[in-house]
Amino acid sequence: KRANLATEHLPSMPRFRESEWDDNIGYFIKKKLRVWCRVPKGQWQLGHIQSTLGAKATVLLLDGTVVKVSTGELQPANPDILEGVDDLIQLSYLNEPSVLHNLQYRYSHDSIYSKAGPVLIAVNPFKAVQCYGKDFVTAYRKKLLNKPHVFAIADTAYNEMMRDEKNQSIIISGESGAGKTETAKVAMQYLAALGGGSGGVESEILQTSSVLEAFGNAKTSRNDNSSRFSRVVQLTHEERSYHIFYQLCAGAPSGLKDRLNLKTASVYNYLNQSDCLVIDDVDDARNFQMLMEAFDTVQISKEDQENAFEMLAAVLWLGNISFQVIDNENHVEVVADEAVTSAARLMGCSTEDLMLALSTHRIKAGKDIFSKKLTLQKAIETRDALAKFIYASLFDWLVEGINKLLALGKRCTGRSISILDIYGFESFKKNSFEQFCINYANERLQQHFNRHLFKLEQEEYESDGIDWTKVDFEDNQVCLDLVEKKPIGLISLLDEESNFPKATDLTFANKLKQHLNGNPCFKGERGGAFSIRHYAGEVLYGTSGFLEKNRDSLHSDTLQLLSSCSCQLPQLFASNMLNQFLKPASPFHHMGVSDSQKQSVGTKFKGQLFKLMQQLESSTPHFIRCIKPNNKQLPGMFENDLVLEQLRCCGVLEVVRISRSGYPTRVTHQEFARRYGFLLSEDHRACQDPLSISVAVLQQFDILPEMYQVGYTKLYFRTGQIAALEDTRKQVL
Ligand code: ADP
Ligand code: MG
Repeated sequence: KRANLATEHLPSMPRFRESEWDDNIGYFIKKKLRVWCRVPKGQWQLGHIQSTLGAKATVLLLDGTVVKVSTGELQPANPDILEGVDDLIQLSYLNEPSVLHNLQYRYSHDSIYSKAGPVLIAVNPFKAVQCYGKDFVTAYRKKLLNKPHVFAIADTAYNEMMRDEKNQSIIISGESGAGKTETAKVAMQYLAALGGGSGGVESEILQTSSVLEAFGNAKTSRNDNSSRFSRVVQLTHEERSYHIFYQLCAGAPSGLKDRLNLKTASVYNYLNQSDCLVIDDVDDARNFQMLMEAFDTVQISKEDQENAFEMLAAVLWLGNISFQVIDNENHVEVVADEAVTSAARLMGCSTEDLMLALSTHRIKAGKDIFSKKLTLQKAIETRDALAKFIYASLFDWLVEGINKLLALGKRCTGRSISILDIYGFESFKKNSFEQFCINYANERLQQHFNRHLFKLEQEEYESDGIDWTKVDFEDNQVCLDLVEKKPIGLISLLDEESNFPKATDLTFANKLKQHLNGNPCFKGERGGAFSIRHYAGEVLYGTSGFLEKNRDSLHSDTLQLLSSCSCQLPQLFASNMLNQFLKPASPFHHMGVSDSQKQSVGTKFKGQLFKLMQQLESSTPHFIRCIKPNNKQLPGMFENDLVLEQLRCCGVLEVVRISRSGYPTRVTHQEFARRYGFLLSEDHRACQDPLSISVAVLQQFDILPEMYQVGYTKLYFRTGQIAALEDTRKQVL
């Protein structure tokens, strides 16, 4: 039941929302309240307003300097009592400087975790923080600790899985180096400890990440241990390929080395091209020994391990295969050397077959089959595509094996907790197809996030008997339509153009302009570029390379070769080969499928994303947003601009915005009565129960009815109300 309160008059109480801030600057001057002031260098500093003249204000900063700024550069600051609160939503003023300050304050006290409503924010400490040991697991399990933590999120997920009998997902996002993978491991550590106890399972689960990291992670310029997905054949400066290659080369025992004809890492083109073979403080040989132990723990047989190493060596040798131009049309033949014989032997096919597959393309015309020589560029593409395919299949096979092992646990409850460690939104100077895919995925996740958040807000209001008039919020469906719509969405247009032999990146750019200019999220730009207005900001994409990257250069010829190989992991390729084809009705046996039926990379990506979203939508989500406080991977360094940018990109400010549109401050009747009850004047003292006391306080201080609502258990306030009460309280004390 909604309380309907008459209001008396006590004119000193402010009654404004942040949006009315401009009209209330006078109040801040009179009460000498602190404000945030954006100084000319762009940083926010605390100060007091001394006077205003028109739209200009004179502000005395805490360091004693006086600045004149436009009032638009001022924001209300929170009262002291709210310094470093666990949950940003507790702040009376949710403006950017307040949010930043709160996170920075906590970070400097080694509180790397904070909440923004239901979202956990994790700021990368870049150093060991003492909050993960067994004692902490126990403390969170027994609810002895309630500070924000990954353990608390994992615990909630576990409890809700058991209580609601519903699958759960923990969605971790953030940019490269922000700490997603470490956070995922922390969550796994907690869940493994819950499921463990009787030994075995716990270490198995934890060792799976050692295996997956060796095969899935690599050094990049932004993270020495970055989770990566396509980097077998091409590296840039300061980057390495997957750890496993260097570990294998450095750590394989001599017998294995001989069997694989393995050389040092510097011999292989796929590894030596970036002039970066080692990582500081990382011992690849030792890590290889650890990997072997991890392999044993996750029960991958010695035989399978050896087969996996053969495939790795095959990939390395493929990269050393070279071509010789044989005519003036740039057609090539494979150079018959150690590289091609080693690769063929390891793959289990004849050298001749491999040479043929890498230098010719067979075309079916009616009943006849023609063989056409490849150009140098096409041959290199084919070779690299084969290497990538083998590696990707190997990785999938590993994941499958690990999942089989872990499925043992799943049988107990039939329910699962999925942890999603996903690359965040990217916007560089130059953005290409990769960024497009990444940002598209994030756009989808953001929609999932928004919808869930709104639902939660609504549920809380409704369960506490609060009138919830739906607050409008911007959905990003228009942007998703731009990408997904058939037949004139970006992916469809890209596929169409990719299948058109004479298409170029420029014709593609023009096609986009022609069809998509009506969408408010799209803008055709000069020089074959276009920009998309994503939820996190506008990104400029160059079309250069889009078509090539969207086509998958693995031809059916190469697939055919692979299927005939006698290498020891035939099951390794089987499922991946099927994935190559688009039509659900395509024959189980892949031989009859032509290249034109193959799925493009973009469409495949979209399909995988849809599957992922389906899985997420049928589970209860828990969100963790990782923040990288500096680009130098250094502890104790918190760069405001960098953090702000990420808060925007990963939707934290969105949470704040959504909450702000409702009643961001929530206090139980008890808490409220305890803190402000003593302010009551004589005639209200008769009140006994927390609810009556609370209502009396609200009446006495003339808080406008539209500024709060009274729920069954809590009071709900608009922004700024508690700050004003705190102010009065301080004066009385
Ligand atoms: P991402 O997966 O987001 O690219 P990572 O999880 O690999 O980033 O983290 C990058 C690096 O940051 C790690 O190698 C580690 O050095 C450091 N790091 C991240 N999270 C933590 C943490 N909770 N405690 C200590 N160091 C961390
Ligand atoms: Mg990672």
